Amino acid sequence: MNTRNTKQRQAIFDAIEHHGGHLTADEVYKLVKRRFPRLSLGTVYRNLRVLVEQGSLRELDFGMAVTYFETVKDSHYHIICRVCGSITDAEMPIERRLQSVVAQARNLGGFRIEEHRLDFIGVCASCQSKPKKAGRGARPIKSR
Ligand SMILES: [Zn+2]
Ligand SMILES: [Zn+2]
Repeated sequence: MNTRNTKQRQAIFDAIEHHGGHLTADEVYKLVKRRFPRLSLGTVYRNLRVLVEQGSLRELDFGMAVTYFETVKDSHYHIICRVCGSITDAEMPIERRLQSVVAQARNLGGFRIEEHRLDFIGVCASCQSKPKKAGRGARPIKSR
């Protein structure tokens, strides 16, 4: 791999880390393109995939039209607004309370649990105070 690729991949990782995570591939592209004007969206996708495979990034799928990327850190939970698509990390001390649940799951046919997810989906305070529009968020949720 040449140095330009390495630098681009590092820049992609840094952009997500500095932002605090939860960026779409498109948002990453816009951020990193400032530094690498010749960057293509395809390169961003390819590097995001490599970073996920390497275990440096985690891809989050909340059933919305797009997925989000964040750096891998301690397990935490997400609060997602289904109107504007804002995503907030929830640092909740519920890990210990969940341990017995995880232990029970482990007993289900000797399954090896690698991760668990807990998402809180609703409407954020700012969207609640806005007059109702016909669900036209910046990050609309995929209709199922
Ligand atoms: Zn909202
Ligand atoms: Zn997060």
